[in-house]
Amino acid sequence: MKLCRFDDRLGLVTGDTVLDVTDALNTLAPQRYPFPRSDMMIENLASLAGPIAAAARTAKSYALKDLTLLAPVANPGKVVAAPVNYKKHLEEAQQDPEIHYQNKVAEIQRVGLFLKATSSVVGPGEGITIRHPDRRTDHEIELAAVIGTRANKVTREQAMSHIAGYCIGLDTTVRGPEERSLRKSIDTYTTLGPYFITADEVANPSALDLHLTVNGETRQKANTRDLIIGIADLIVFASSFYTLMPGDVLLTGTPEGVGPLAPGDVIDATISGVGAMQVKVRAG
Ligand code: MN
Repeated sequence: MKLCRFDDRLGLVTGDTVLDVTDALNTLAPQRYPFPRSDMMIENLASLAGPIAAAARTAKSYALKDLTLLAPVANPGKVVAAPVNYKKHLEEAQQDPEIHYQNKVAEIQRVGLFLKATSSVVGPGEGITIRHPDRRTDHEIELAAVIGTRANKVTREQAMSHIAGYCIGLDTTVRGPEERSLRKSIDTYTTLGPYFITADEVANPSALDLHLTVNGETRQKANTRDLIIGIADLIVFASSFYTLMPGDVLLTGTPEGVGPLAPGDVIDATISGVGAMQVKVRAG
């Protein structure tokens, strides 16, 4: 199942068409303050499948390309992110792959994971608005895993079962001396999209091609098989520190090839089997 959000509506994506299945959300119990630290739609995904299918039968339909897509997860409680997490191909890896690999693992474990403000989350239709134009802002494409069930101190064997699904993530970053959590938390600097795809539709999340172009020029190209710390181990690591909640988003790290963005740029980001999205960059 592929779910998107537009105009605060919930859409079921079937091919190039989106069916407005917002009525399915009416089957959920109303929430009252204080709200849970989880995303209501993701947490109730299993019980929503029937109502979504029912709503789809009489739903109004739209062309996917005509919609201004919002982030498919409306209320992630946390955006957890890994630093650069891909084996570099070519010369560096060939010189001494084992030492290179161990150094990278040590570096990621030293840095650990960081958190991005949830207020930075937008969908592809909302674009990226550059702040601090005197500094360089970089693009980072990443596979984003969305947590489906509460995960606390989980084992490697249990880890993948806590994932509800995936989307493409852009972990946009302004360069500078401050902590990552500040520089990556600028409004619009976490793009999620184009839609949420349930885990059952992603046969092997550890063999997905990532591709990012800026104005048609390839900047980042990699495959998730080259993740240094894999998705399961990232969940183990994260949940050894804090409980992951339904709707939490895990950005799994970016490959080589990050580069500068400028107002007017057009980013095309694709992850095979997950989706493709276009994101426009504008001045603040
Ligand atoms: Mn990143």
